[in-house]
This record gives sequence, C-alpha cells and structure tokens, in this order.
Amino acid sequence: MDFFETLHLQTLISVNIVLVTMVILAHLVLLLWNPSIPGVPLWMAGNLSLIFGFVLLVLRSHLPMFLSIILANALIVSGYYLIFLGIRMYMGKKIPSHKPFIAFMFFYLLYEGYFTYYFFSLIHRATFSALSAGIMSFLISWETSQRLTSRAIPYLSVAGIFFLHGVFNFLRSFLLLFTPQEIPLFQGGGMAKLLFMETIIFIVAMTLGYVFLISARLVERLKTQAEIDHLTELFNTRALAKLADKALASVRRNNSVLSVLILDIDHFKGINDNYGHAAGDKVLHDFARILSEGLRPSDVVGRIGGEEFLILLPETGKEEAFKVAERLRSRVEEMNFRHEGYSIYFTICIGITSTDGRDKSFDLIMREADTALYQAKREGRNRVVPYDGSDHIQRRLFHPL
Ligand code: GH3
Ligand code: MG
Ligand code: MG
Repeated sequence: MDFFETLHLQTLISVNIVLVTMVILAHLVLLLWNPSIPGVPLWMAGNLSLIFGFVLLVLRSHLPMFLSIILANALIVSGYYLIFLGIRMYMGKKIPSHKPFIAFMFFYLLYEGYFTYYFFSLIHRATFSALSAGIMSFLISWETSQRLTSRAIPYLSVAGIFFLHGVFNFLRSFLLLFTPQEIPLFQGGGMAKLLFMETIIFIVAMTLGYVFLISARLVERLKTQAEIDHLTELFNTRALAKLADKALASVRRNNSVLSVLILDIDHFKGINDNYGHAAGDKVLHDFARILSEGLRPSDVVGRIGGEEFLILLPETGKEEAFKVAERLRSRVEEMNFRHEGYSIYFTICIGITSTDGRDKSFDLIMREADTALYQAKREGRNRVVPYDGSDHIQRRLFHPL
C-alpha cells in the first residue's frame, strides 16, 4: 500500500492527458496512412471516443455531472462498441444489427442517470460501468482471437491486451461491490490510482496492438501481391506451384482426380505487331477475365508465361475437362476483344492432362499438358488436345515470368 500512497494522483492524471494527446495524434497518423484497411477508421473512432470519455471522467471535479458522468460513460461504451465493429470488419465479418447495442446503451444511460440524479451513488455507477467495460473487452478479445493463421501473434497480442483489460475491469467491479462505504473514487483512493495506471498501460498497449495488426495486414497484402500477376490479376507461377502441390495432395487424400489445362494464345505475336504492345496487354487482361468467369470457384487459374495460362480443375476427369476446355476455346473464338476502337479476334490452343496424383510429379503433369498443347499447335491451332500418353514429351514450357 506504501507504493500507492507515494503515487501522486494529479501527476498520474497529467501523465494520462499527455499520453492520450500523443496517442490521439498517433491514431490520426495511422488512419491517414491506412484508410483502406477495413475496420481501421472504426477502431480509430472507437479509440477516440474511449479516450475522450476517459478524459471527461478524469476532469470530474471541473465539469458538470452531465458531461463528466453521462456523456463520459456514453462515449466509453460507444468506444468499445466501435472497436468491436472495427475488429469484425478487419476480420472480414459482417457488421451485426445495432439494435442490441442501442437497447443496452439506453438501459446503461438510464442506470447511470438514475444513480447520478435521483440516488447519487458512485459505487453503483462504477460497479456497473466496470462490469460493462469488462464484458465489452472480453467480446473484443474473443473476436480478435478467432483467427487461426500462421501469423497469429499480432491477433493474439491484441486479444491478450483486451482480455487483461477485461479481467482488470471485472476485478474492479467485484472489489467495488464489496466496498463498504462510499469512497470518493476520484479523490485520491488507491483504487483511483490503480485505475489511472491501468488506463495508461492499456491505452499504450492498445495503440501498439493496432500498429501490430495494421502491419500484419500490410505483410499479408505484400504476400498476396507477390503471388499475383500484375497485368492479368491471376496467380503467378510461384503461387501456382504451391496451389498445384496442395491440389495434388488433396487428390491423393480423397482418391479423386485432377485435370490440368495449359492454354496458349495463337499467333499472339501478330496481335502485338498489328495493334501494338498496349493492345496485346489489353487482350491478355480481358482474356484473363473470360477465363476466370468461365470456371468454378474451386478451379485455379494462373499465368505461366507471356500468353500462356494454366488451369487446375480439381475433381474433374478427362472428359469433363475436355468439355470445359472446348467451351473456353469456342467462347474465345467468338469473342470480340476491343481496344481503342479496334475489334481484335484470336483463337487459343489447349493441352489437357488428368491425374489421380499417384505417380506423377507436378513437373511431369505440366510436361504432359504441354506436349498436348504442342500437338494442338502442330495440328493447325484453335483446338483442344488431351494428352494420350503415346507421344513422347516434347519440350518444357513451365518457366517463371
Ligand atoms: P503460337 O500460335 O505458336 O503460340 O504463336 P505466338 O505468336 O502466340 O507465340 P510466340 O511465342 O512466337 O510469341 C508470343 C509473343 O507474346 C511474343 C511476346 O512479345 C509476346 N508477349 C509476351 N508477354 C507479353 C506481354 O506481357 N504483353 C504483350 N503485349 N505481349 C507479350
Ligand atoms: Mg506461347
Ligand atoms: Mg502463342
């Protein structure tokens, strides 16, 4: 207890205010730099609401009760709720209906108002607000911990911070419940000092936690960008190699079958030569859209070279794969690709192979599909050729972009 007695309450409050000002500035910078990360604007609004609520509470002896009790509590509760919504958005979850929160807020303010204006009781108010803060912190902690990826540490850190804050608030409401008399909470008791110290630690930890979460999201984005081909927005070779390994493992596990298609645009060089390189790029981009649109969500499409593409069709046998390929081929044949007023027509060749994943490496599968593709080119282009196993493997085409 000696330790608490030597702590100077006014100093703690001043430190709190200075820190809060710095944190507000840090939040504004975070928001300005990362407006596109889902949920960030809501967190920031939530934190600011929480912080202004704390400041109003702290200024209790200088402000009218309406501001430092009713408004302060409304801001704090709304702050937690906004943070909760922000975390859900960040996680890609739906925003829930606000009705339960509005009902809770209504009850909360009635309760606080009653114990402010009709029956003045700090203990009743503080117990309930600590309990509410505890519950909301646990909710936020729970939401944040619901992400089990390999990069879990930033999520677990934020979940941990809110969990500890929740535990602190539960303990506080429990202790308050057993406080025998009305101790003036903001006028120097050990509890007040403890509360201000916890607030300092919580605000700083929470801000660092957000920085952690934001940088985790930026790393995820970089990772995605490293696996996406810029021009077509399809997977690049690097991502395809990983996805193909996964698909093969799944085929073996489930005793199913995987078909692989390699597509190559016929006489693509001619498009570049006749309409210019930009037209070639536009054709590649639009062609990529056609491919993505024509497939199932579980199919994988990527670009493996200049005008060469790869499609993985899980749980699809040779006949079915042939139908898919034929549909794509005829669609492209009829399609009119537009660029700067020109109509550009072209055709494609597709080589197909299928596997049950038992005795073939991805490299061999690629070479089989490529052999079939080469066969299609030899036979005069604009056609689909399944690998029949008789032809010996001609050349290797799978090279990084
Ligand atoms: P084939 O029918 O035998 O496939 O003939 P092709 O002209 O399509 O094949 P070839 O391999 O001779 O030429 C491919 C061309 O694709 C050459 C290259 O300049 C062009 N190319 C590769 N990448 C890109 C790109 O990103 N944009 C554009 N515009 N052209 C590209
Ligand atoms: Mg080619
Ligand atoms: Mg070509």
